[in-house]
Amino acid sequence: MAYDKTVVYTDAVVACADLVGRTGAMGFTLGHVHENVPIEKAGWYAEALYQGARLSTGEHRSPTAAAMDLAERLLRGSACKCGQRVTLSDESRGCRWQLVGKRWQSECSAPPIHVGGARGDRAAAVAAYEQVHGRLPGC
Ligand SMILES: [Zn+2]
Repeated sequence: MAYDKTVVYTDAVVACADLVGRTGAMGFTLGHVHENVPIEKAGWYAEALYQGARLSTGEHRSPTAAAMDLAERLLRGSACKCGQRVTLSDESRGCRWQLVGKRWQSECSAPPIHVGGARGDRAAAVAAYEQVHGRLPGC
């Protein structure tokens, strides 16, 4: 998919920030590397702390592209609340997620899983997930 637009699609940025919160990641940052250059040459990136590691995109031509990249990195291969792996394409097996307005949504209607631990507490998230589904998909 090509999100190589220089126009800022605010919904994608809002959806990415929302997704960061929903995955338990923290510290969402959207920034650029170069000053005093045309917007498409500024080197836009997005990053967040996820499972104790900094997840960062490469440089993009727009904030939109950076936000889409980070969202895809957070979603790809993760476990959906329904028990399937998240997929971003119709060709792959799993629960299909897509950007709808300002929010990334799954195709399933499984209820949210409530995690008891602190934000970013992966052990608490895994325990809550396993209580519902038995184990993480693919494990
Ligand atoms: Zn699902």
